[in-house]
Amino acid sequence: MRTLFLILAIIAIYLILRHFSTRLRKDAEAAKSPRHPPAMGKDIPANMLKCDYCGVHVPAQEAIRSEKHNFCSLEHKLSFKEQPPQR
Ligand SMILES: [Zn+2]
Repeated sequence: MRTLFLILAIIAIYLILRHFSTRLRKDAEAAKSPRHPPAMGKDIPANMLKCDYCGVHVPAQEAIRSEKHNFCSLEHKLSFKEQPPQR
C-alpha cells in the first residue's frame, strides 16, 4: 500500500512539474511572438508615396519624383511618360 502511494505521489509531482514547464514555455513563446502582428497594407504610414504607374507604395525617400507624379522606380517613371496607365 505504501509503494502504491509513493508511485502515485511521484506521478502527481511529475504531472505538476510538466504542467508548469509547458505553461512557462508557452508564456515564453507568447512573449517572443506578438499575438497581433501589424497588418500590412491596411494603414499606410504618412511618409509613403504611391507609384502613379503601378500603384505600389514606396517610402518617400526611395520614391522617384517628377513634376506632379511619384514612382516606385525609374523604369516606371519612363514607362509612365511613354504610356500613362489607362484609368
Ligand atoms: Zn511602380
